[in-house]
Amino acid sequence: MPKRATKRGDERTPLDRDCDVLICGASFAGLAVARELAGSSADVLVVDRYEVGERQTSACGIPTAWLHALALHGSLQQTFAELVIHTAHTTVRYGLPWTFSTFDYRTLCGELADQGSFRFETATVDRRTGDTVHTDRGSIRAPLIVDALGWRRVLGAGANVQPPDALLSRGLEVHPFGSGRDMEIWIDRGYVPAGYGWSFPAAGEVRIGVGSFDPRFHVREPTERLARELGAERVRYQGNWIPHALRPATEDGVFFTGDSAGHCLPLTAEGIRTALYFGLACGRELRAVIDGRSRREHALTRYHAFSAAHARPFRWMLRAQRLIPQVAPRLLSASLRAMESKRFLDWAFGHYLEIAHPRFAAAAGAALAGLPAGAVAAPAMA
Ligand SMILES: Cc1cc2nc3c(=O)[nH]c(=O)nc-3n(C[C@H](O)[C@H](O)[C@H](O)COP(=O)(O)OP(=O)(O)OC[C@H]3O[C@@H](n4cnc5c(N)ncnc54)[C@H](O)[C@@H]3O)c2cc1C
Repeated sequence: MPKRATKRGDERTPLDRDCDVLICGASFAGLAVARELAGSSADVLVVDRYEVGERQTSACGIPTAWLHALALHGSLQQTFAELVIHTAHTTVRYGLPWTFSTFDYRTLCGELADQGSFRFETATVDRRTGDTVHTDRGSIRAPLIVDALGWRRVLGAGANVQPPDALLSRGLEVHPFGSGRDMEIWIDRGYVPAGYGWSFPAAGEVRIGVGSFDPRFHVREPTERLARELGAERVRYQGNWIPHALRPATEDGVFFTGDSAGHCLPLTAEGIRTALYFGLACGRELRAVIDGRSRREHALTRYHAFSAAHARPFRWMLRAQRLIPQVAPRLLSASLRAMESKRFLDWAFGHYLEIAHPRFAAAAGAALAGLPAGAVAAPAMA
């Protein structure tokens, strides 16, 4: 179990120190990086403004195989073999070639943290100058710095791109107590002109929300309306901005992973497995440096190339995200019905999973370290 040191009030003592690896952000991406450094000789420090697992950042839906691949099954709440999609004119029920599951955020973060060995401090990260990261508790210096802080990309060089100008979607959900059997999606302009609504049951609670691809469109009213129509309470709100475009995975000597690098998939806004995937990749590069098999500059180049090699599927998904809201609702409904065949769904969802496949988790260290730069295959996307 990592040492946790939440500091409040008088206990919020100054933090001024050096370490070998500084990981900023203790959610999916940051904890995946830390996992890959377990058992190394490095002094690894993870900082977050909250305790590990304290603030849920999503509806917590993920391909089930990712939970198994990372031995995170203790967090699993409910599993779905089908995806139910509602439009204004039809409802389709897609049998998936692999299952999707909801999980408990706090448990998953705890399980993932347990797989790492690091020191943890609660601190709010403000900015960076060179190899020094400035927090509300003081400055931390490290030769290897990871920004896993989410969409704000706090440690990036230059001005931070903010909504509504940045390529960001926005999402808001409520978490009423309740139950359900299906994982449901609404592609219906009655809720949001470009985007979708969802209902993800999670063993005792349901996560109901709306996401808009257009950051100027407010999602509170449609989220509340969807919840009301489903007979659910509007309680325990959770929302955030969601990037929908890849950004450079390294910049000015810093490694970016998860939402800070735009690793969330456009169209579906699925960003958990990609945060884990790219976090593992980043961690493996850092591990090679610590073990003396690589140098920092080399690791930066290779991780940057690895992330950029995924540009094609991200571009395709962004195109689909922009196209679908343009399709006439009746045509969209007919198209969704036409896609109900098992053969098509196996093909489409198979390709979709390939973008960040759980087999990568099992590849333990071999996936990047030791491979020549450029040898990392980009996933296919037909
Ligand atoms: C409403 C909603 C529902 C979603 N549902 C799903 C879903 O079901 N499945 C899915 O795959 N994706 C979902 N997503 C997307 C997913 O949540 C993100 O892509 C994912 O959380 C990215 O992980 P991350 O580790 O990069 O960043 P985050 O999970 O955002 O973690 C960032 C961490 O950095 C910390 N932090 C931020 N700023 C600072 C600071 N200045 N100082 C210190 N610490 C800081 C935060 O406390 C947090 O722990 C959803 C998003 C939203 C908004």
